[in-house]
Amino acid sequence: VRAEIIVNDDLQTLLVDELQKSSSCCCSSESSAAGEDGAFIPSLRQVANVAALPGIVGASLAMPDVHSGYGFCIGNVAAFDMEDPLAVISPGGVGFDINCGVRLIRSNLTEADVRGTVREELADAMFRNIPVGVGVNGDIPCSMEELDKILREGINWAIDKGYAWKEDRDHCEDNGRMETADPKCVSNRAKRRGLKQLGTLGAGNHYAEIQVVDEIYNQQAASTMGIGQIGQVCIMIHTGSRGLGHQVATDALTVMERAMARDRIELNDRQLSCARISSHEGKEYLSAMSSAANFAWVNRSCITYLTRKSFSEVFHRTPDEMEMHLVYDVCHNIAKIETHVVDGVKKKLLVHRKGSTRAFPPHHPNIPKDYQSIGQPVLIGGTMGTCSYVLVGTERGMSETFGSTCHGAGRALSRNQSRKTLDHTQVLDQLHKNDIIIRVASPKLITEEAPESYKNVCDVIETCQDAGISEKVVKLRPIAVIKG
Ligand code: 5GP
Ligand code: MN
Ligand code: MN
Repeated sequence: VRAEIIVNDDLQTLLVDELQKSSSCCCSSESSAAGEDGAFIPSLRQVANVAALPGIVGASLAMPDVHSGYGFCIGNVAAFDMEDPLAVISPGGVGFDINCGVRLIRSNLTEADVRGTVREELADAMFRNIPVGVGVNGDIPCSMEELDKILREGINWAIDKGYAWKEDRDHCEDNGRMETADPKCVSNRAKRRGLKQLGTLGAGNHYAEIQVVDEIYNQQAASTMGIGQIGQVCIMIHTGSRGLGHQVATDALTVMERAMARDRIELNDRQLSCARISSHEGKEYLSAMSSAANFAWVNRSCITYLTRKSFSEVFHRTPDEMEMHLVYDVCHNIAKIETHVVDGVKKKLLVHRKGSTRAFPPHHPNIPKDYQSIGQPVLIGGTMGTCSYVLVGTERGMSETFGSTCHGAGRALSRNQSRKTLDHTQVLDQLHKNDIIIRVASPKLITEEAPESYKNVCDVIETCQDAGISEKVVKLRPIAVIKG
C-alpha cells in the first residue's frame, strides 16, 4: 500500500513540515460534500486513505494540483484490479460532476481579428447564447425518450441532431461515448434534472473562454493539432454532466452504504463509500456513471454548437470557413477500464481519475489516428486571469501514473476564504489591466474564482514536466471569459 505525491522542491519542504506536525495519516477527512475545495493538508490524508482501499494496484497518486475533495482528493489517480474479486469502484473517486472535462476549439482567426468592439460583441453573443449560472435551464429541446438516447449514444446523438460535426467524435476521449452506459441504471430524478440542463455551462469554475496562443513549446505537436502561430484564436470550454451527474453520484452513495455493510467493507473515511466492482451495486454505478459521462459529452457538444453559432453571428461566416475544428476533448472526473502493464504483466484496471487527466503516450491505440505520432492532447485550465495549457502524454506517465497528469492549477483557497480575503474591485481592475474582459452571471464568482484563489498553474505544469508525466505544447492566454 503506497501513496505518492508528485511535488516540486517547495512543496516537498512544506509537506515534510506539515506531516511532522500532523499525528496520523488515517483519520477522517475534513472536506465537505458541497465544497470540494478545502486546504492542502487534509488532501494528504485523503491520498493515504485511498491507498488502503481493497484491490488498489500500485500507489494512490496525487498530481501537483492536489486539494481536498469528497473522500478522494481532487488530483487523485487510483487504479483497481478488475480481476480481483475484492476490488472496488467509488463514486468519490470520480467526483460529483461526472465527466467534467475540457475541450479546445481552434480557428483561423488571429488576435487582430478580435480586437476592440469585435471582442465585446463575441463575448456578448456567447453570454447571450450559452445559458450560464446555477440551476439555469437550457434551450436545446429534449424529451425523456431523447434523453435515453443521449445517455446511451453520447456524442452520436449530437451528431445526428446537427449539434456536433462528425469529425468532432474522433477528437473526444473514448470517441465521445462510453459503451458501458445503460440509461436503465439512471434514476428518474437524475434524468429530470438533466432534461432541463442540456447545453448549459453551469456555475463555479465552469467557463467558456476565448484565448490566444501565447507561446509554442513544441512546434510539431502544435501544428499537428492545427495550432500554427502566436496570436491564433482558440476557445476553451470547461463543464460536465450538470445536475444529472450530481444526482447519479448522490444516488450511488446511498446504495453503496448498504452494499458496504453487507460485504463488510471497512474504510478509514466514510466518504470513501464504494462497492465491489463485481457486485450488482458496482456494476450499476459503472453503467450509470458511463451514462452521465455520455450526457457530459453531449452537453459540451451543444455548448460548442452555441459557440460556433456565436462566432458566425459576429463574423457573418460559417464555423467551417473559420476552421472551428475541435482540437480535443478530455475527461477529468471519470473511472475507466484500461489495460496497463503492472510489474511486466498486462492487466485490466479500473482507473479512477478525479481532477486528473488521462495523458496517453504516442502510438497508444486509444488516441486518435492523426495524433498517433505526438501523443494524446491534454487540456489544462489555469484561471480566468492567467494562462491555460495544451500538453501531450508520455511513456513515462504511462508507466508511472497510469497515463495521467494534472487537470488544472488546483485551488489554494476555499471559496469562503476567497470571498473573505479578496476584494471584488481589485480583482476586476487586475483583469482589466491584463486586457481580459469578463461576462459573469453571479458577482460573487469574481472573488471566488480570482487567480489568487488558485495555485500558480505554471508551477503545476513545470512540476508535471519535470516528473516526465506530460510535456508542454502550447500556452494560451485568456482575452474574454464567460462564467456562471
Ligand atoms: P475543477 O475541474 O477542479 O472544477 O477545475 C479545474 C481547473 O480549472 C481549476 O483547478 C482551475 O485551474 C481551472 N479554472 C478555474 N476557473 C477557470 C477559468 O475561468 N479559466 C480557466 N482557463 N481556467 C479555470
Ligand atoms: Mn465540473
Ligand atoms: Mn472540472
